Amino acid sequence: MLCPFCSHPETKVIDSRESSDGKVIRRRRECLKCQKRFSTYEQLELLNFTVLKKDGRKEDYNREKLETGIKKALEKRPVDDKKIDEIVDEVEFRLQQKGNCEVSSKEIGNLVLEKLKGLDDVAYLRFASVYKSFGSADSFKKEAEKLSHNS
Ligand SMILES: [Zn+2]
Repeated sequence: MLCPFCSHPETKVIDSRESSDGKVIRRRRECLKCQKRFSTYEQLELLNFTVLKKDGRKEDYNREKLETGIKKALEKRPVDDKKIDEIVDEVEFRLQQKGNCEVSSKEIGNLVLEKLKGLDDVAYLRFASVYKSFGSADSFKKEAEKLSHNS
């Protein structure tokens, strides 16, 4: 960690604090050379990759956005928020393992679907209808049938 003021490589940590959700650690540091103080933020599991969307656009991966999508699918379903966190954690873990810096939204959608399958059928169908963007009522029906065969 270089001092942002004088680029000296040695700093000492004078205070360290976790955010309320425990995911970000804020460190107060002091440069050993110029004694100026600055903060660093360390995020656990920082995911830094690009999502390739169906229409060809690219955007930075955004955990909150993914969470929102899953929450929508699970609206009024008997599944608590903790489970949503777990699903997102698991999906992120799988994406990290692949080690690509670019991933398609379809791929992310499929990982989520894998998780929703068996957890909540209604949520699965809701999510599938968004992510697979069924072209017709027919293909939606097919998916619903596939699901009832599996369970
Ligand atoms: Zn300095």
